[in-house]
Amino acid sequence: MTALDRLKQVCAHSEDPSEIAPHVEEWRGSYHGRTPLLLKPSTTDEVSRALAICHETGTAVVPQGGNTGLVGGQIPFHDEVLLTTARLNRVRDVASDHIVVEAGVILAKVQKAADDAGRFFPLSLASEGSATIGGNLSTNAGGVNVLRYGMARELVLGLEVVLADGRVLDLLRSLRKDNTGYDLKQMFIGAEGTLGIVTAAALKLFAKPAHQATAFVGVDDPKAAVALLDRLQDATGGLLTAFELIPRAGLDLVLKHIPDTREPFAAPWYALVEGPLTPEMLGDDNAVLAASEAQRTALWRLRESLSEAQKKEGPSLKHDISVPIASIPDFVVKAVAAVQTLVPEARPISFGHLGDGNLHFNFNVGDLSKRAEVARIVHDMVRDFGGSMSAEHGIGTTKRDELVRYKSPLEIELMRALKRTLDPKNVLNPGKLISA
Ligand SMILES: Cc1cc2nc3c(=O)[nH]c(=O)nc-3n(C[C@H](O)[C@H](O)[C@H](O)COP(=O)(O)OP(=O)(O)OC[C@H]3O[C@@H](n4cnc5c(N)ncnc54)[C@H](O)[C@@H]3O)c2cc1C
Repeated sequence: MTALDRLKQVCAHSEDPSEIAPHVEEWRGSYHGRTPLLLKPSTTDEVSRALAICHETGTAVVPQGGNTGLVGGQIPFHDEVLLTTARLNRVRDVASDHIVVEAGVILAKVQKAADDAGRFFPLSLASEGSATIGGNLSTNAGGVNVLRYGMARELVLGLEVVLADGRVLDLLRSLRKDNTGYDLKQMFIGAEGTLGIVTAAALKLFAKPAHQATAFVGVDDPKAAVALLDRLQDATGGLLTAFELIPRAGLDLVLKHIPDTREPFAAPWYALVEGPLTPEMLGDDNAVLAASEAQRTALWRLRESLSEAQKKEGPSLKHDISVPIASIPDFVVKAVAAVQTLVPEARPISFGHLGDGNLHFNFNVGDLSKRAEVARIVHDMVRDFGGSMSAEHGIGTTKRDELVRYKSPLEIELMRALKRTLDPKNVLNPGKLISA
């Protein structure tokens, strides 16, 4: 019996091209893959049996959650078997300080389950209606509440993981304190499905934030935005949950391309800020405070429509970077100048999670022919500023070859050693994140 025939006996599956099609296309159409078999396990045991067969037969397998990843990690490019976690979709337990969910639970459903229990789960991304917890943890997702609650990694208490050879590693504890040596669960967070398949997670829950307010504040430049961030963090005792930067040119694209949007007021740059804000804290600033949930939604829509508006405007070069927050103003000036030396017509649209030092440092351009050279200029400068060339989207295939340029040889050696130890036959998402 072939390996594929054996896998078909383990769990629900599909070979139907029309069912497979949406799983092998990335949402923007940037990546197209192919698979002979879509596995649809609904229990940890089924994942375990499937991986044992993959390991024994050397059959490559790509795990997939909501297929919203932006770096190609979830796409089978070389006829690998595709394993969707969509049916691992149970909420196993909700307590006051944690929730236990299976990997395929959609992020918005985790937020809702927490809310129904009178608690708060802070991870929040524009893709939360489709992205899964398994994908969020495997990409160590960020989003809009990192400033106060941290990245996905910081929200995890325990994990259940199926190893490459099918053994189940049960680390599904909900303890706040557990100082018993290496924290093994951390290896699988941000590993993009290359070290194991996450099947369930115990996640931290919080009290619902009190007195939240949302403000849209005009600032002269990124330097003024950083000063505003510091001032408002001081005023709120460090309780800001979001601090997003929006450039004038970005808002203009939103107003041009996204229906039913309007400019709150004119300014060269804007900060969208959330936290226990009061009008007094904003003082004489050029600012509005949302007076209703509808106004809050309208302000967030301006921020969350930036990517779509940029896409509608035409080709763009995108960089998901982070640098130390205090260096952001200097970085923006120097990196824009360096890119425009090579591509004078490049129009900068730098926006995003300023409070986390993370910018989507993008440019609208006439064509994409200089994509690689521009990425090299930006990422080299990020390195010179002590930053990261992938702040929150991960490596996947998009940045795999760049990883070796920006990590030290020792880091790469240790990453490869980890991969070889946990997946000696290189069957788990081969070719993603790091070459074997
Ligand atoms: C509109 C939009 C906005 C976004 N905004 C943000 C943002 O603000 N911040 C951010 O960080 N990201 C953002 N993203 C990217 C994306 O949503 C995140 O990376 C998300 O965490 C991926 O979840 P997913 O379930 O879709 O994973 P997938 O895309 O299916 O997979 C992503 C990676 O994880 C692996 N994987 C998936 N499930 C498992 C599992 N159970 N075990 C092991 N490996 C697994 C896959 O193999 C792949 O390598 C955005 C994407 C879109 C489309």
